[in-house]
Amino acid sequence: MRLRNKPWAQDKIDDNPQVVVADPENRKGKWHQIFENDNPICIEVGTGKGQFVTEMAKLHPNANFIGIERQKSIIVSAIDKINESGQKNVRLINVNAMQLINFFDKEEVHRIYLNFSDPWPKNRHEKRRLTHESFLEAYEEVLIPGGDIHFKTDNQDLFVYSLHSFSKYGLILNNVSLDLHRSDFKGNVMTEYEEKFSAMGNRIYRCEAMYRRK
Ligand code: SAM
Repeated sequence: MRLRNKPWAQDKIDDNPQVVVADPENRKGKWHQIFENDNPICIEVGTGKGQFVTEMAKLHPNANFIGIERQKSIIVSAIDKINESGQKNVRLINVNAMQLINFFDKEEVHRIYLNFSDPWPKNRHEKRRLTHESFLEAYEEVLIPGGDIHFKTDNQDLFVYSLHSFSKYGLILNNVSLDLHRSDFKGNVMTEYEEKFSAMGNRIYRCEAMYRRK
């Protein structure tokens, strides 16, 4: 994503504490207090401009959604979408997901969504891919037993890498699709990247990867 410098981004984040949770490290184990209910919590890592979490929150009022986005200049667009939607079951946190376990307690999260994650094609950047083993360990720590990752991308190399990474980690793969938009999958919610790349004719890959119950 091309980043435009937005010097006002931090002010906008600070002005919207009802959407961007300012102290996520203090919410570890207590996210239900923020949502004022015990509904399941789902997170999207690398939420971008927020279309997916906002639409999911509308479609699933009995679940709570948290979008994690590290770039201030991007998260500001997600703030606008959430405010316009008026949804109360969605929040954002402006952090690097590498520190995920600082923000969520064991078994606090029901599902993790990874949508059009940055591919980081160079081998030396492998550890930054959101499906690298180190992230899979962190996801396992915060997910409920039998929790899962829903992953989609238009990047074939990242998809192949991720299938290997999931499988090497012992995750169970379900609903693997090599062409999501021409499959019979129901209930797909499009992200900004998905709209852009599918309009260009790119094929969308998708899979679900489930952790084994211990
Ligand atoms: N999911 C959105 C979509 O499909 O339209 C955005 C996709 S964009 C290619 C990837 C986003 O993930 C970027 O906004 C980037 O800043 C964010 N991101 C990448 N690595 C991250 C990390 N470790 N922690 C938080 N956000 C991250």
